[in-house]
Amino acid sequence: MQYHADVIVAGAGPAGTMAAYELARKGVDVLILEKAGFPRYKVCGGGLTSKILDEIPFDITPVVEREIFSVRFSCNFSDPFTRTSSNPLILCTMREKLDQFLVNQALAVGARILHGEHILALHQAGEGIGIQTRNTTFRSGVVIGADGASSMVAHSSGLRNDLMPGLAWEAEMDAGEEELERYSQTVFLDWGTFPGGYGWIFPKRDHFSVGVGGPASLSRYLKAYNEQFIQASGIRFTGIRSLKAWPIPVKIRKGLFHSGQVLVTGDAAGLTDPLTGEGISYAIRSGTMAGRAVFSYLEGDSGSLASYSEEINRELMPEILEANRIKAIFNAVPCTIHRMVEERERVWKAFGKVLKGERTYKDVRRGFGKWKFLWGTVCQISNMVYRYKKDRYRGK
Ligand SMILES: Cc1cc2nc3c(=O)[nH]c(=O)nc-3n(C[C@H](O)[C@H](O)[C@H](O)COP(=O)(O)OP(=O)(O)OC[C@H]3O[C@@H](n4cnc5c(N)ncnc54)[C@H](O)[C@@H]3O)c2cc1C
Repeated sequence: MQYHADVIVAGAGPAGTMAAYELARKGVDVLILEKAGFPRYKVCGGGLTSKILDEIPFDITPVVEREIFSVRFSCNFSDPFTRTSSNPLILCTMREKLDQFLVNQALAVGARILHGEHILALHQAGEGIGIQTRNTTFRSGVVIGADGASSMVAHSSGLRNDLMPGLAWEAEMDAGEEELERYSQTVFLDWGTFPGGYGWIFPKRDHFSVGVGGPASLSRYLKAYNEQFIQASGIRFTGIRSLKAWPIPVKIRKGLFHSGQVLVTGDAAGLTDPLTGEGISYAIRSGTMAGRAVFSYLEGDSGSLASYSEEINRELMPEILEANRIKAIFNAVPCTIHRMVEERERVWKAFGKVLKGERTYKDVRRGFGKWKFLWGTVCQISNMVYRYKKDRYRGK
């Protein structure tokens, strides 16, 4: 038996559910195929920068566990200081709850979902696309690949290129009421411990998420870094619930995000912030864009899905590429940046404004004023310094 839907979405993370929501609310027959049973644990810090709130068409307050006003910075576990904002910088969620909530919104406007459907292959089927799962064959006019960092859809459609591999570990840590209360509005950020690496601690309603990320080439050091961070944070943890790693792919060049009637979104497309590892907001934005582009294609307003690739290249890629340049500076001189955030009000304010969406990464370059013509050179030199540090570290 073959099942059919006008649009099939692979994966029910934020990218897939936002694409399905956008299509279903306009009356399109859309089916999500998800390999996992929901709610499911997702290796993720669950931190949302407050800038994304304007992009989500419904209120996500029910799944926000903590609102963050303060950041406690450390450099190589040393020189800690705390900076505070008068309004929230980050919202902390648990992904099993956030993702189930987003699925419910898509279902409420008419999308369908099947769990336990692991997509194994795509093939051309007449004018449409055949989707083979372990159990069934599906058929659809358009496929939206929202199947995450190891995307089968992206691989099988030739859309898996120009990706910089990254890796992150996440530990879910128990702690007593007193510790949970004391740090309920504070995230911890550590940088400068090893080249390109950074760590975070997000408070949740009944535990802490402690994570570290870094370049895939130094992945063998990351688990130890996570363990050291847990020790060095000063938080009195009482136990560990889980410790898992997952890739974070970053697209490092503009390119194609569609091929024929297939398009890719979120992690499947490598749309993540190379500086912070943040990917939920890019998943939400690209999923929504995919939904819009597919709708206009189905309505006959556009002859192909090329408008989707164009919109991603115009709206999202410039920020990702700029973040990658700024990351080179961070990685070259993390302790200098650390001191600047501590000592200069202007730098801390710029940091907060980027998190809140009041400023973009492009504004950081503009902040160089009359020296901004040197920006490209500074980034290039920083990148060379970073590579040198990374190679030296690897040879240790
Ligand atoms: C340790 C770690 C910490 C992170 N912390 C943060 C953070 O604090 N804030 C933030 O913004 N980002 C964070 N990220 C990044 C964030 O998790 C991702 O960018 C985000 O989940 C991308 O959403 P998505 O919908 O594209 O993919 P996903 O959330 O990965 O969803 C993909 C879905 O597809 C399903 N799937 C996969 N393959 C198939 C298949 N073959 N068939 C059917 N279904 C399939 C999966 O089960 C999953 O449900 C973190 C990442 C890591 C690894």
